[in-house]
Amino acid sequence: MKDKKSISLRANAKINLFLDIESRRENGYHTVKSLMHSVSLSDTVDITVSPSDTTQIAITSSSPSVPTDRTNLAWRAAEAFLSAVGTTCRVEIYIEKNIPIASGLAGGSTDAAAVFRGLNELFDNKFDTQSLCDMGARLGADIPFCIVGGSKRVGGIGEILADAAVMPDCKIVIACGGEGVSTPWAYGKLDSMYSAFDGSAYSCRTEIFDALTHSLRAGDMSGICNNAYNIFESAVLCERPVAQRIKDVMMEAGARGAMMSGSGPSVFGIFDLDCDGAERAVALLAKEGIVGHICCPAGEN
Ligand code: ATP
Repeated sequence: MKDKKSISLRANAKINLFLDIESRRENGYHTVKSLMHSVSLSDTVDITVSPSDTTQIAITSSSPSVPTDRTNLAWRAAEAFLSAVGTTCRVEIYIEKNIPIASGLAGGSTDAAAVFRGLNELFDNKFDTQSLCDMGARLGADIPFCIVGGSKRVGGIGEILADAAVMPDCKIVIACGGEGVSTPWAYGKLDSMYSAFDGSAYSCRTEIFDALTHSLRAGDMSGICNNAYNIFESAVLCERPVAQRIKDVMMEAGARGAMMSGSGPSVFGIFDLDCDGAERAVALLAKEGIVGHICCPAGEN
């Protein structure tokens, strides 16, 4: 690294159109069957690198809730990338935070993914996408998906990605109210509800998943909404009545379907492009003091 260089990237949030557990490994990790889809609700990540004999990382953000130390996944992505290159430099990262935090939208993971993508570009595309995903998977289960983006069937603990068809054009409203959810807490609740996913006591809803991916291929919005599924709703909605209320408001406003994303508590509603249901949902939510973001499905990065 001889010169100072900068890059600015959009870091899209993700929603889960499907999320179920396949098994629980002995080490406590859960393998998932998921359909992740990028949406245009995004953070902006600005990265500047400059020559330095030691690795120095600095993070600033528009939001005081974003950690600015090594607990920020973006920091650890920068560290991992520089160590893989075998070099040192100063990395300054600014995160314009728009994605609600701790809400099941992969906000931290997408910022880290943007750092991997951005640094790779500043270092002349030293690594291919698979190598970046391998580095990302060591830091967080959602990072490989966030590096690639688009619409993907996701397996393993998040490291297995396969293409799926993108959603038809539509409006998506995303809203989050009340206290955030810690992902380990939500998995703990599922373990106690489903006997730790003991093989004989639980089976993954594969048929619904197949019907969903078929509906995506056919561009059949009714099929997509009818087959959307998230096992975390059974554990989280009863503890987060605001999330249930947001779902109800979205449906009242005319959503084709509404569901919690990831481990919650954010909820997304899917609305037809040619109606004002999304705007109505945002207005109804605002009356209850809840911010709704209107966005749309996003393709690969
Ligand atoms: P996932 O869907 O991947 O489980 P999430 O969207 O539920 O993630 P995040 O927004 O990533 O949750 O926040 C989870 C925790 O991660 C927060 O408590 C926060 O302190 C920490 N964190 C680390 N890096 C970031 C970041 N860049 N932006 C926001 N939170 C971050």
